[in-house]
Amino acid sequence: MKRVSPPKALRRKSSRESRLIEVINELDQFLSAQQIHKILNDQGSSIGLATIYRRLERLSQEGKVDALISPSGERLYRRCGQDSGHHHHLICRICGATQEFDLEAVEVVTSKIAKKHGYQDVSHNLEVFGVCASCQSSVTKSISKPKLR
Ligand SMILES: [Zn+2]
Ligand SMILES: [Zn+2]
Ligand SMILES: [Zn+2]
Repeated sequence: MKRVSPPKALRRKSSRESRLIEVINELDQFLSAQQIHKILNDQGSSIGLATIYRRLERLSQEGKVDALISPSGERLYRRCGQDSGHHHHLICRICGATQEFDLEAVEVVTSKIAKKHGYQDVSHNLEVFGVCASCQSSVTKSISKPKLR
């Protein structure tokens, strides 16, 4: 399900903005505008950071990319499944691996709270940060076998 490589000729013709979309489509993890800017520059694109910021903000308002704030306060972007709709993320603080999840209980509780206080047109964000299983095991390995480093 991850074949998003158009033929080379098509790639060369594509505009700066569609290169940005292509990069986002290929993203596995959440990245900041700066990181996306660096990827594009490494690929020879001259798109500016300010343009990337504006474009990413527009895409996230249109619901085409997901945006979230990292624990360090950085705004990060990623494109999840095309029609994934409302969902939440579980993100590894070390490698950036991301799981999407949906939890009925969260939806029920948040709408109950809002209703209780008479709020309407309610939305919420819930992102969970932690250390994924493979990062945990690589940390354990480096502790148990310090001489192999
Ligand atoms: Zn998502
Ligand atoms: Zn990880
Ligand atoms: Zn939710």
